[in-house]
Amino acid sequence: MAEKIGIMGGTFDPIHYGHLLAAEECRRQLALDRIVFVPTGTPPHKRNRAVTSPEDRYAMTLLATAGVREFFVSRTEIDRDRPSHTVDTLEEFLKQSAPQPELFFITGLDALLSIATWKDYMQLPSLCTLVTATRPGYSVAGVDALPIDIRRVLKLIEIPQFAISSTEIRSRAREGRSIRFLVPHLVESYIENCGLYRDSEVPRI
Ligand code: ATP
Ligand code: MG
Repeated sequence: MAEKIGIMGGTFDPIHYGHLLAAEECRRQLALDRIVFVPTGTPPHKRNRAVTSPEDRYAMTLLATAGVREFFVSRTEIDRDRPSHTVDTLEEFLKQSAPQPELFFITGLDALLSIATWKDYMQLPSLCTLVTATRPGYSVAGVDALPIDIRRVLKLIEIPQFAISSTEIRSRAREGRSIRFLVPHLVESYIENCGLYRDSEVPRI
């Protein structure tokens, strides 16, 4: 039987328990063999703010997933010298893996609802099953407006609602408020030790 791989893309600036919970719930509910977290290189959707360096975001993603047997982290998008697009990443996974795995691309509901802005998004149904975790503040009603070919390959997964975002964590860190229990302990230490997010949205080189 083909290996079932969940791919979870994200800026992960920083990775937090909302990401880990969504990935784990999707893994369990769909009996996926493993999850690969793919931090973005130059996020096409986030050009309006300076994003923390890819190496810092990659390091935090590694720290957050270390010791979880089914969780892996890929450098494929951060090593790419062009902007990251999901279709390219999925094609790369399929090309590199033999025998062919079955891919499940995992997003939160907010990301799914903006799918029509992604490059070549109508190719996604031929590459993967789309898996979308519910997220506080976003209504599943919006799914009805998506193209039928997208909805056909979509699995909506109900997860315990955890109203946390990287934006909220960055602003807490900037204001010197606690981020304890919102991110794994090692990620919290990394943010503190490297002084991330202190100067608002200034990138570290
Ligand atoms: P930002 O506030 O910077 O946009 P974020 O918390 O949304 O950060 P991203 O890296 O943008 O994190 O998201 C990566 C993926 O994780 C997206 O598909 C997003 O929908 C999903 N996700 C993030 N937080 C949650 C959450 N609390 N519950 C469910 N899904 C989530
Ligand atoms: Mg986001």
